[in-house]
Amino acid sequence: LASREVKEENTVIRVKGASVGGSELAVIAGPCAVESREQLLAAAWAVRAAGAKFLRGGAFKPRTSPYSFQGMEEQGLKLLAEASELTGLVTVSEVIDEESLAMALDYIDILQIGARNMQNFRLLKAAGKSGKPILLKRGLSATVEEWLMAAEYIMSEGNQQVILCERGIRTFETYTRNTLDLSAVPLVMGLSHLPVVVDPSHATGKRDLVLPMAMAAVAAGAGGLLVEMHPEPARALCDGQQSLSPREFAQLMTKLKPVAKAV
Ligand code: PEP
Ligand code: MN
Repeated sequence: LASREVKEENTVIRVKGASVGGSELAVIAGPCAVESREQLLAAAWAVRAAGAKFLRGGAFKPRTSPYSFQGMEEQGLKLLAEASELTGLVTVSEVIDEESLAMALDYIDILQIGARNMQNFRLLKAAGKSGKPILLKRGLSATVEEWLMAAEYIMSEGNQQVILCERGIRTFETYTRNTLDLSAVPLVMGLSHLPVVVDPSHATGKRDLVLPMAMAAVAAGAGGLLVEMHPEPARALCDGQQSLSPREFAQLMTKLKPVAKAV
């Protein structure tokens, strides 16, 4: 179902007047985790002011350590819904199991399935039955074939609204958090009609690398970006080292324009 052979034209996913996979670059931005009402609303207004249409924020955080901040859960989902109501932004938030998915249905526009859950097949099937667009991240060590098969799990349950997100894969390199597989962008766009977006934040783990990799992703044909931005990156409870400040994010949006126009 994900294959170009089945459907030749690009899939465009439309939500609340915004779209992913169409002619306009879809930029999803916001903090790694929802931390408080003040933090999320500050981030949301900064996203909107810079001209992006999608707000991200994790309410359920799949952290490497069980002692790290795990997210605000339902309270975080409620804050995202409020931020969306105030700003008109479309929300994206990660679900980590069937329970969090069921909870997110009432509050969130686009459900994210993270790298760690890319092959959680029961979760993929539940996402397929959810009726919501799904942002499916590439697994930490997933091949393109495995990633597309994960999309197939969602689609085979009747949900064709899948956005693929390249977020870097694990290699031997340690200077970066992951290695951004940029070649996957044109490759997957050739194999599949689904929209492909790139997450330069988790791919690199370093704030200074986010802008150049975002520009490269757009030049490679990505239909959108997922960028972590925090009102005060130094105080972030999660992924502060890779988060842009609102000012840096606004600069990124400006610098992307000529690149997006050229492709
Ligand atoms: C995230 O988007 O906050 C996240 C946890 O990403 P990934 O699943 O790509 O690590
Ligand atoms: Mn993060």
